[in-house]
Amino acid sequence: MASLSAANAQTVSVTVKPETVLAGSPELIRVAAADATSVDDEWLNRKLQFFRSRDGRSWFTLAGVDVEVAGGPSTLRISVHSATNAVRDFTRTVDIHPAHYRTGSLSVPPKFVEPGPDELKQIAAESDIKAKVFAASSAEPLWHGSFRAPVRSAPTDSFGTRRMFNGKLASIHKGMDFRAHMGTAVRAGNSGVVVLARPLYYEGNCVIIDHGLGLYTLSMHFSRIDVHEGQRVAAGDKLGLSGATGRVTGPHLHWAVRWQGAYLDPAKLLRLNLSAVR
Ligand SMILES: [Zn+2]
Repeated sequence: MASLSAANAQTVSVTVKPETVLAGSPELIRVAAADATSVDDEWLNRKLQFFRSRDGRSWFTLAGVDVEVAGGPSTLRISVHSATNAVRDFTRTVDIHPAHYRTGSLSVPPKFVEPGPDELKQIAAESDIKAKVFAASSAEPLWHGSFRAPVRSAPTDSFGTRRMFNGKLASIHKGMDFRAHMGTAVRAGNSGVVVLARPLYYEGNCVIIDHGLGLYTLSMHFSRIDVHEGQRVAAGDKLGLSGATGRVTGPHLHWAVRWQGAYLDPAKLLRLNLSAVR
């Protein structure tokens, strides 16, 4: 078990859930410090922003470990600020366990493996659009309660799979594919703001929802988009219809979870019980 190193550590407790931290895990970090006026910390070179729980006694943040992070010890640095006690800094060691993801290969039209000059221009322009979207997350959490699956159909355990496209391009699959027939209603996994709703080269018709504090869900390959950029959505609101646009081998829904640039396993996020948190 990890230990705290600080003079006042006995007044502060830190828990990380799930307790077994894997590459690709989303992690709910809780700092119990009733007298705190704010809490901030740093983990794996990312700043964590905490919000106060409903009962006011704890501070939470939803963070995670990118699928490509190598296993080994990592350091969580926490600063607890309070009116009476100035700043209490301490560290905690979190062991990251390597996750074992599968490998696979598939075939897509050649333009998705070796795009031409015009297509490369389009891809570069779209990367700029996405970079702007990902740099402007809400400073407050926008989600409420646990996340839910975007479609009722069966998920696959495809997250983290190392894949070869057409025997050439190696890439890591950073989302979860759901088997969804053409035209299946795709719903918001939680509340937030639609920050992107448009066709993209690889993603096809794509909807990105900002859930605040750097956390986003991305849904791809829609046949039809039913929301617009800037729209607020609640969990379960219809975003559009699934399809087979972009780099696909057939109709399905690709659903991804991104936190501060890290891609997290959607299946693990769906298993996190957040109902008591906010
Ligand atoms: Zn996919």
